[in-house]
Amino acid sequence: MPLKPDIERPEPERRRVGYALVGLGKLTAEELVPAARTSDHAYVAALVTSEPDKGVAFARVHDLTEGDVYTYEDFERLAEREDMEAVYIVLPNAQHREYVERAARMGKHVLCEKPLGMNAQDAQAMVDACREAGVLLMTAYRCQYTPQHWAARDAVQGGRLGAVKLLDAIHGQVEDDPEAWRLKRDLAGGGPLPDVGIYCLNTLRFVLGTEPEWVFAALHQPQGDERFREVEESLSFMLGFPGGIIANGLTSYGTHKTATLRVLGEEGTVLMDPAYTYQGLSLTISDGAGDFQPSLPDEDQFGLELDHFARCIREGQQPWTPGEEGVQDHRIMDAMYQSARTGQVVRLERVEGKDAFRGTPPQVPGREEG
Ligand code: NAD
Repeated sequence: MPLKPDIERPEPERRRVGYALVGLGKLTAEELVPAARTSDHAYVAALVTSEPDKGVAFARVHDLTEGDVYTYEDFERLAEREDMEAVYIVLPNAQHREYVERAARMGKHVLCEKPLGMNAQDAQAMVDACREAGVLLMTAYRCQYTPQHWAARDAVQGGRLGAVKLLDAIHGQVEDDPEAWRLKRDLAGGGPLPDVGIYCLNTLRFVLGTEPEWVFAALHQPQGDERFREVEESLSFMLGFPGGIIANGLTSYGTHKTATLRVLGEEGTVLMDPAYTYQGLSLTISDGAGDFQPSLPDEDQFGLELDHFARCIREGQQPWTPGEEGVQDHRIMDAMYQSARTGQVVRLERVEGKDAFRGTPPQVPGREEG
């Protein structure tokens, strides 16, 4: 299927939303461009890269033209592209804010990769810029769009597990390239926590729908390992949620790939293993009747996310994971680093209500509500 299947359709309200993908790295090339082909409401309209030759070669393979390739210097020329309504920022974390703000100034809606920024202040500035410009901002939390994560959340919130007591989330992998931008504090904002540990934090908040009241954390930054001169190798955190629910999280750049979520209730448990991978999410719900593995579609998570944001643009709705959702994770991660530094529990600002930072629920394949 071509990337621009119905670009010529006259009715703007039925036309797919054209995205410019900013940053032609691994995620864009290997996941996002293929994901757009699975999308019902979105297509790739333009690419922005520092290497135009590479961009043009890539564009040609993917049914785009030389004219669809832009550099960071001529980013503002995208303003002239009426067929391009959204910009997807897929750059190192330190560059998210600059490009979100530049896109907002052009009046384009913005989907931004996680973590939204470098810290809560940086991320809040991005939310403010988009609000002032009157454009939508969505944080690309792909897991919050999957049937498996929603089934876990429904089991937790629907009472199937009885009273929830404890949660446990782990996301680790080996980062072995000492030159990777992910290991540079000025480019990444931290180590595994804002990169992969953020999935643990975000999913814990998502399945409960409430916000933690306090946080405690410890980290390890090994001496003599050049990879971890600037950022932590591992971080362990504990969160206190309303009602005495306690959640633990572990994240590392020094462990074999692990991506799990466990929710322990009085009458049942949820286990997702793996819980944060691009494919093959596996969910087991256990209760007095035994173990149950719901049969759910293995959707392209990036396609779901592109579709949700496109629909929000068409319908003028706040996305399910708006910029505010990204800011809240940053507030909590900032508090985790503060706790690790001081050895103290850090109290968080009290947040009342359910899904306090979320917008319009997505349509989730295979789920009745939504
Ligand atoms: P990458 O290193 O593969 O690509 C980064 C892109 O930014 C490249 O096009 C590179 O040329 C460009 N770039 C510009 N300035 C750079 C600099 N100073 N150093 C390095 N690259 C520079 O990175 P990636 O894995 O595509 O990650 C990009 C963003 O996507 C990050 O914010 C990351 O957290 C996020 N990400 C999200 C997921 C997910 O599952 N949602 C997965 C991977 C990455």
